[in-house]
Amino acid sequence: MRYSRRLIALIATTALATALPAHAADFDVLILGGRVYDGAGRPGRAADIGIRGDRITAIGRLRGRTATTRIDATGLAVAPGFINMLSQAGDDLLVDGRSQSDIRQGVTLEMIGEGLTAGPLNPAMKMLFKGRLARLGVRDADWSTEAEYLDLLQRRGVSPNVAAFVGATNARLYVVGADNRKATPDELAKMQDLVRQAMADGAFGVSSALGYAPAAFADKAELTALAAASAPWNGLYISHLRDEGEHLTDSVDELIAIARDAKVKGEIYHFKVAGLSGLPKLNQAIAALERPARPASGWARTCIPIRPRPRDWTSPCRSGFKPAVSRPGSTGCVIRRSGRGSLRRCATRPPGPAAGWLRSDRPTTSSSWP
Ligand SMILES: [Zn+2]
Repeated sequence: MRYSRRLIALIATTALATALPAHAADFDVLILGGRVYDGAGRPGRAADIGIRGDRITAIGRLRGRTATTRIDATGLAVAPGFINMLSQAGDDLLVDGRSQSDIRQGVTLEMIGEGLTAGPLNPAMKMLFKGRLARLGVRDADWSTEAEYLDLLQRRGVSPNVAAFVGATNARLYVVGADNRKATPDELAKMQDLVRQAMADGAFGVSSALGYAPAAFADKAELTALAAASAPWNGLYISHLRDEGEHLTDSVDELIAIARDAKVKGEIYHFKVAGLSGLPKLNQAIAALERPARPASGWARTCIPIRPRPRDWTSPCRSGFKPAVSRPGSTGCVIRRSGRGSLRRCATRPPGPAAGWLRSDRPTTSSSWP
């Protein structure tokens, strides 16, 4: 399971299965009579599938062949397991590793980590994770690296494959803390070392969530340096864009520049725009992504199937809207500042070095930092 790059078991959980003795069978598993959607975008086609071990070894008319287990998929769609590219199940899988809510929808690979990931954690971060998980009934949460987190997950028992990014938020919190300031060259070097260690442990790349503090305090140069540290491992830079409203196209340009300069592939989390008035910006952003001059490494984007609403944000996350520039420190600090009435003064200060265009009227959601 750990950092598995294998593609995925087939899903036919509702089909009926019958068993034969193992020694005489052509396959371990035969899935019969289903309509196969292979994930390449082609229309589905009627076909049977033969599996040996964890490999599909035959696709076609296989009804006359033998198998240890035969699954009747008549009337069902058969597809590779789905990949949840933005899984927030890092805590939940520790609470209940069966992952029933996702597996029953066909998800067999959870890509966890959006900016703030399970590791690396310094002692202060570790205490916060431990406290949060203790409240969920997980008493053995005692890891410092993502590899240790995945080991714990495996020891506790987990059904899906799990893979992870290393969070740009982790690197910043670990070394710089929650303040809104630029990392020094020494700090940036330490942050890159953390990324390199995570990549050597098997992370898929660097993830950032720039709509949240303190991730938003990282400037383009810092994010490029972190993404570049993942390049020797063919890392992917994946990001919740800095701004999904007025400055959507600037944010897309930033992601393109980071991936280009770091020489890694880029991907946008939940590609969308805020509000109906922003829809023209979506076309501009798509055009930027499809420009012929884009690097050969290419782009990808994931989307939320959600209908735009007038006077509203298309994002389902609406808690704690405040300008991110006003949010140095943890959520608790911000709440305390709000209580003293100092948030307004803070919000009207000139933006910090890394805030850039964030100091617009575009509200951002609550901090990703506990
Ligand atoms: Zn997000």
